Amino acid sequence: MTTSSNPVLEVSHFNVDYGVGAAAVRAVDNVTFTLERAHVLGVAGESGSGKSTLAYGLTRLLRAPGIITGGDVHLHLGTDADARRMDLLAASEAELRAIRWKHISVVMQSALNALNPVRKIGKEFDEVLKTHNRSMSKSARKDRARELLGLVNLTPDRLERYPHELSGGQRQRVMIAMALALQPELVIMDEPTTALDVVTQREIVAELQKLRQELGFALIFITHDLSLLVELADEIMVMYAGRIVERAPALELYRGPRHPYTLGLMGSFPPLHGERKVMTGIPGSPPNLKDLPGGCAFHPRCPYAMERCTLEDPMLSPIEDGQRTVACWLHDPSVSAAVPVELRRKDAALAGEAG
Ligand code: ATP
Ligand code: SF4
Repeated sequence: MTTSSNPVLEVSHFNVDYGVGAAAVRAVDNVTFTLERAHVLGVAGESGSGKSTLAYGLTRLLRAPGIITGGDVHLHLGTDADARRMDLLAASEAELRAIRWKHISVVMQSALNALNPVRKIGKEFDEVLKTHNRSMSKSARKDRARELLGLVNLTPDRLERYPHELSGGQRQRVMIAMALALQPELVIMDEPTTALDVVTQREIVAELQKLRQELGFALIFITHDLSLLVELADEIMVMYAGRIVERAPALELYRGPRHPYTLGLMGSFPPLHGERKVMTGIPGSPPNLKDLPGGCAFHPRCPYAMERCTLEDPMLSPIEDGQRTVACWLHDPSVSAAVPVELRRKDAALAGEAG
């Protein structure tokens, strides 16, 4: 899955720590992935699993005491003749400013905090459009702002409003429209719908689905709600204690998770559509990064833990002809323990039953 034909973002062995020396904790640990142009990558995991740190780290928006301590991040900009590959970790602040909004934009959880409370919405759009396109006239900027609001189903009169005059869902739509204003190749959204009610969440996810088909941007969508991702993502990456523990095409992951943690996450949220099941959740709490358990970090909470899990840390490894990757001893060919039926390939499960 790491070989790619038309990538927009390449991340390899990316690490982020909070603090230095003995006090440091690793919040993002050895994360490697490639995102294809116009694809949607969902990132899921409980609170504290490192999702936001990953988003802030990749975009170089991380604040102290967060420090990027390793890895490579490359963004592919432009197309055809003017295409170039930019080393985001080596880029200067000026270089980063030049690509923000235009090539990569970020929507964070709280739109209320992201929008200036004393500035009308129209002024916010105007600033973004003006900064990156000096030749655009004032009236052209206003037309473009109206058009952008239309994309997210907001009427043009919202341009004359202050953020506090809009609902939470409307503010989040404004942020999404601003993120798309300059048609970036990559948009990163960190829990953009978490503070909203379920109906508004579903509407926004449906709008994003439509927009990405129309505009062709790649999207990293971060949430703790796995069921939301299935609506939107091409692939899903699940994080635990700063690491990727499973990555698979979205529907396949949803139909058949291979990692016990993914299975637990799926039991933590009601599906957006269809039958509402009894929520089972994951026993215990997320680990303390200062004192991670030895072996597999999930072992104290894992119903399938074996002795080996307490001793050795499983690597993220390809399974099922490289269609997906998982970090769990249950799927290691050297382990003789049977894979629990709920984590097995369905054809393997059937073969097992037949035998
Ligand atoms: P949430 O869904 O709650 O936003 P998350 O998966 O995005 O969670 P992060 O916010 O990235 O997780 O946090 C990852 C880890 O880094 C957590 O253990 C958290 O306690 C730690 N962390 C985050 N910010 C800081 C900070 N400023 N100083 C020290 N540790 C931090
Ligand atoms: Fe559970 Fe062991 Fe797999 Fe970790 S490696 S998820 S403890 S079975």
